[in-house]
Amino acid sequence: MALLVMKFGGTSVADLPRIRGAAAKVAAEVARGHDVITVVSAMAGRTNELVGWVDATSKFYDAREYDAVVSSGENITAGLMALTLQEMGVPARSWQGWQVPLRTTSAHGAARIEEIPRASIDAKFAEGMKVAVVAGFQGVSAEGRITTLGRGGSDTSAVAFAAAFGAIRCDIYTDVDGVYTTDPRITRKARRLDRIAFEEMLELASLGARVLQTRSVELAMRFGVPLRVLSSFEESTESSGTIVCPEEELMENRVVAGVAHSRDEAKMTLTAVQDQPGIAAAIFGPLAEAHVNVDMIVQNISDHGRTDMTFSCPVDQVARAERAMLAARERKEFAFDELVADTEVAKVSVVGIGMRSHAGVAARMFKALAAEGINIKVITTSEIKISVLIDRKYMELAVQALHDAFELHAGG
Ligand code: ADP
Ligand code: ASP
Ligand code: MG
Repeated sequence: MALLVMKFGGTSVADLPRIRGAAAKVAAEVARGHDVITVVSAMAGRTNELVGWVDATSKFYDAREYDAVVSSGENITAGLMALTLQEMGVPARSWQGWQVPLRTTSAHGAARIEEIPRASIDAKFAEGMKVAVVAGFQGVSAEGRITTLGRGGSDTSAVAFAAAFGAIRCDIYTDVDGVYTTDPRITRKARRLDRIAFEEMLELASLGARVLQTRSVELAMRFGVPLRVLSSFEESTESSGTIVCPEEELMENRVVAGVAHSRDEAKMTLTAVQDQPGIAAAIFGPLAEAHVNVDMIVQNISDHGRTDMTFSCPVDQVARAERAMLAARERKEFAFDELVADTEVAKVSVVGIGMRSHAGVAARMFKALAAEGINIKVITTSEIKISVLIDRKYMELAVQALHDAFELHAGG
């Protein structure tokens, strides 16, 4: 029996009518002869509310209890989805992460999946169950504590189940009808892509396009899981949505596939640090220990043996980064004059595998930003992406300007 994984995000299960809508899609696949594993998110807004309650209760919270609270939203949806399917006459049963059990590392709040044993779900399929409804985003550690996989983690749960059960496809149902050339909330000119390469999707996701969690794309790529993104609010057919696939299967020949943005970035500069061997290690070691996710790094040309070191990180990690730097200076690990934090920046990136073979993408990007009078603060590049840090107030404008400059509305 061909098995399909169908994942429904928060807005797709926001209330009971929407859960019925999602269940109807699942029932339709069962009627077509599929067994289904349905992975569900918490109802829209619920996870944010739970996170807010934890923050309001405890400033430096115990991450194990954070996971105990924040994972609970998915439990409600899983039970309601199983009940709704049963009401429709579809044999269904729900599983919380620990019941599967979906085994993860003990990195609470950002756990990684280690193993998904099939026995408990397979046994129910063998008894005639048609749909296993699984609570996304959660698992269980070796210590037997509930863990969560990071925000947006239900996508990763879905792909992991598809890999573990050899699903014919993993369908990610969401509030947009596919992956677009940029976030359709920022420009109406954004165009849906029929296909996108794994590598491009991986970059877009890690650079801020939240339509898929980065880790889910990584897993799909590693295990060769056919992945599709489509709308939970529209009639779906075999050709709906966007297929994320190996680059050999792309039809279009384009230089840039899309533009991504990440709003909540910060730029931090340590002024007048000694320019000598070991200085970067002395700075970035303590930042890593403080769990600061450093992204871009720039070191200026030195002047009289002193240089400025600039790095970017998520804005909510600025306090942690400051604490780590001041403590390292206190311990005399290195010296600096000032630590300047600019918390009003955003990152905008263009991504495309065509960049490997086309010159001039950077020049075109910088020209488009200059034409809008947008100052670039930091630049980083890789083989298939260029990212810039700019003032946050220009973020939307920059995305629109780049979308136009690369003619993404018209196929790139
Ligand atoms: P879900 O709750 O279903 O997981 P998310 O909110 O996590 O949904 O992801 C869907 C959202 O991702 C869309 O509403 C859209 O605003 C945003 N998004 C950002 N970049 C893109 C893109 N390139 N293509 C499609 N959607 C995007
Ligand atoms: N509910 C979780 C979140 O909001 C997981 C998910 O929706 O993917 O992050
Ligand atoms: Mg999501």
